[in-house]
Amino acid sequence: MPYFDVVIVGAGAAGLFCAAQAGQRGLRVLLIDHAERVAEKIRISGGGRCNFTNRHLDPRTGHQHYLGQNPQFARSALSRFTPQHFIDLVEKNGIAFHEKHKGQLFADRSAQDIVRMLLDACALAGVQRWQPCTIETIEAEAACAPRSGFSRYRLHTSQGLVQAHNLVVATGGLSIPKIGATDFGYRIAKQFGLPIVAQRPGLVPLRFAGEDWAPYADLAGVALPVRISTGEKKPAIAFDEDLLFTHRGLSGPAILQISSYWQPGQPLTIDLLPHLDIAAALQEAKASSKKQLPNLLAQWLPTRLAEAWCQHTPAWQGPVNQCSDKALAQLAHSLSHWQITPSGTEGYAKAEVTLGGVDTQALAQQSMQAKQQPGLFFIGEVVDITGWLGGYNFQWAWASAYVCAQALQAA
Ligand code: FAD
Repeated sequence: MPYFDVVIVGAGAAGLFCAAQAGQRGLRVLLIDHAERVAEKIRISGGGRCNFTNRHLDPRTGHQHYLGQNPQFARSALSRFTPQHFIDLVEKNGIAFHEKHKGQLFADRSAQDIVRMLLDACALAGVQRWQPCTIETIEAEAACAPRSGFSRYRLHTSQGLVQAHNLVVATGGLSIPKIGATDFGYRIAKQFGLPIVAQRPGLVPLRFAGEDWAPYADLAGVALPVRISTGEKKPAIAFDEDLLFTHRGLSGPAILQISSYWQPGQPLTIDLLPHLDIAAALQEAKASSKKQLPNLLAQWLPTRLAEAWCQHTPAWQGPVNQCSDKALAQLAHSLSHWQITPSGTEGYAKAEVTLGGVDTQALAQQSMQAKQQPGLFFIGEVVDITGWLGGYNFQWAWASAYVCAQALQAA
C-alpha cells in the first residue's frame, strides 16, 4: 500500500501551495482532488486574471480584512507569509502583474500563469497528484492495521488504499458547486469531532423583490460609485465601492463586500453620492437654475437612475427653482441614505466565498493542526476565516498553506 508523509485533499489554491512547500522540505507528498480540472477557482478568479494578493494587507492589522468568529486567528499565518512573499514568487516566475484598485494585484496575462506556477512548483518538489480521485473513507490510527506502524491515516480512494502520517484538508468552501465545491472538509472535521461554524454564502450578489424594489427593476446595467453600510453594526461597516444594478437585484464590488456582513432582514444604507454634499448642491441649484429635477440630478448620477429616482414622487419632478426646501431636503436625504432591504442572496451558485467553516478554536494558529487530532490539518477556505474582496482570500490560502507546510513532520 503506498505510503506518504502527507496526503493533501483538495488541489486548489491552498492545497497546491501547501504541497509544493511541503515537497520542497523533502516530505513525500500526495495531492488528491476529485475534479477533472485542476485549480478551477484560480482559473476563473479575478475575471480570469486572478487577484492573487493585496499589497495593502499589513500583517499586524491585516486580520481586519477578514471575517470569522475570531479573525485574530489569521494574524500568525498572515504575518509569517505576507503578500510580499507571494509577490516575490510571482516575480521570480516572470509573471507580469499590475495593481488595479486599492492594492489589488492581478496577473497581466491570465490566471492560468498562477496555476502554472503552482503546478511547476509541485512537479519540481516531487509531489504526486491523483486527479480525478475520490476519497471514500478515512480511518485514523486506532482503526488502522497495527503493521501500518508509522501511519496515522488510511484513506480508501477510487485509486486504492493509501497511508499517510499527516492529512491536510484543503477542500475549500461550498461556493460554485458546478466546478467541484463540496462539504467534504466539514464532514472530515465532524468525523474527528471538530466544531463547525454554520456556513453561508459571502461576496455574493443580493436579490431584491416587492414594492420597495419596483422603481429600480428596469435599471439593469446602471453602475455608480457609492458608500454602502449595513447600518446596524456599531461601528457600522462601510465600503466605498462601485454598485451595479442587475436584472435580479444589486451587485458589483459594493454589494459583494457588504454581503459578507449582511444578515437576513437587515436593511442596507447606500449613499449614492458619497463625494457630494447633495443637500447644499440642490440649494445652490435652486438659487440659480430652472432645470427639471431629474435633469439636474443627471449631472451627478447616471441619467436612468436620476429619472427612476424622481418618477414616483411628484414633488421631485418640477423645475428645481420651484421646489420647496422640504422636498429638496427629502430628496437629498433619500439619495444619501437610501435604505433598502435585500430579500436574499444569489446563493452558493454565485458566491465567491463561503463564510463559516472549521472553528478556529479547534486549530493551532501557528500550524493549522487540529489541537485534539495529531497530524490532521485544515487550511484555506474550509476554515472559518473569510477575506474581503480584493485578493484577501488567496492571501489567506497561501499563508495558511505555508504555515501548515512548515509544521508538517515526517514519521
Ligand atoms: P479551492 O481553491 O476552492 O480548492 C478546493 C479544492 O478542493 C478544489 O480543487 C476542489 O475540487 C477540491 N475538492 C472539494 N471537495 C473535494 C472532495 N470531496 N474530494 C477531493 N477534492 C475535493 N479570491 C481572491 O483572493 N481573489 C480573487 O480574484 C478571487 N476571485 C474569485 C472568483 C470567483 C468566481 C470565485 C468563486 C472565488 C474567487 N476568490 C478569489 C476566492 C478564492 O478562489 C478562494 O477563496 C480560494 O480558491 C480558496 O482556496 P482553497 O484552496 O481553500 O479552496
